[in-house]
Amino acid sequence: MSRVYNFSAGPAMLPEEVLKEAAEEMTDYRGTGMSVMEMSHRSQAFASILNEAETDIRELMHIPENYKVLFLQGGVSLQFAMIPMNLMKNKVADYIVTGQWAKKAYQEAQKYGRVNKIASSEDKTFSYIPDCSDLSVSPDADYVYICENNTIYGTKFRELPDTKGKPLVADVSSCFLSEPVDVTKYGLIYGGVQKNIGPAGVVIVIIREDLITEDVLPGTPTMMQYKTHADAGSLYNTPPAYGIYICGKVFKWLKKQGGLEEIKKKNEKKAKLLYDYLDESCLFKGTVEKKDRSLMNVPFVTGNEELDAKFVKEAKEAGLENLKGHRSVGGMRASIYNAMPYEGVQALVDFMKKFEKENL
Ligand code: PLP
Repeated sequence: MSRVYNFSAGPAMLPEEVLKEAAEEMTDYRGTGMSVMEMSHRSQAFASILNEAETDIRELMHIPENYKVLFLQGGVSLQFAMIPMNLMKNKVADYIVTGQWAKKAYQEAQKYGRVNKIASSEDKTFSYIPDCSDLSVSPDADYVYICENNTIYGTKFRELPDTKGKPLVADVSSCFLSEPVDVTKYGLIYGGVQKNIGPAGVVIVIIREDLITEDVLPGTPTMMQYKTHADAGSLYNTPPAYGIYICGKVFKWLKKQGGLEEIKKKNEKKAKLLYDYLDESCLFKGTVEKKDRSLMNVPFVTGNEELDAKFVKEAKEAGLENLKGHRSVGGMRASIYNAMPYEGVQALVDFMKKFEKENL
């Protein structure tokens, strides 16, 4: 079977040329006679892979010197605990709850201190980003937390909240490397790589150096201290080596695409194609406020559950996979991450037009 257009929210499509290159190197990585999977993480070959990956992501995101880049494990969900355990010096944090993932992070943090929900969009099923221009940030908050792109609902912070000088912590899992960012606006940026960057199992944490201290909550395991991994250059224990290797290839692919400015243009073009059609369709409609629309995750509905199910089934038969919305919201969702080609979105829109004609 040839490759399908995979609209999964994650794990998601990777660039085909990255997969092909990895396949070519599968049994003999550049004359080493072994796969990266079989290689010591202390070897020279792996040291180069890790160093290059770090150099390339630094270049792509213009990460300043005073930020560390850590390649960690445990999924995004482990960070929901690691963040408060490492950053809650005053045992106070403010959370902006714009979806299930932000809510989970908010709930987990409550185990470690006083956690304030300073804004939320739960009143309208997380279909918008609340106004964050004048938040009541707690004077003693250790940080302000956001989920920058809400994978399930398809909303994105177009402007970062004014945190009144407190470090901003952002889960960027579903918008990682999709557009340029000003790293200096954050204390900590982190994300799982399984959407835009590589195979599940790697979490990248970009953290300002002054936030990495030994002053963590009592009982914080060694493996859950940022300092452990920062001091060891992400080699405190055996890292997810193969995953990091694929991430490195995706960084090089992004550089070849022209970097984050260019990838943003491509992402905007893809998203516009789909949103413009949703805005003119008589059958399908987008579910979030226009001003807050994500470039990466596009949820939509027909308003009829049976028709939604028929659409998902027939789309799959046409080679357009994983269009079912998240189980908590229903409907459809097209995730159009960096690796989704324009042709994939065009094929989806063409199919939607045909389905609309046949079913209206
Ligand atoms: N945060 C966001 C924005 C996500 O989209 C996801 C997963 O889809 C998660 C967190 C959870 O990631 P993990 O399964 O790696 O814990």
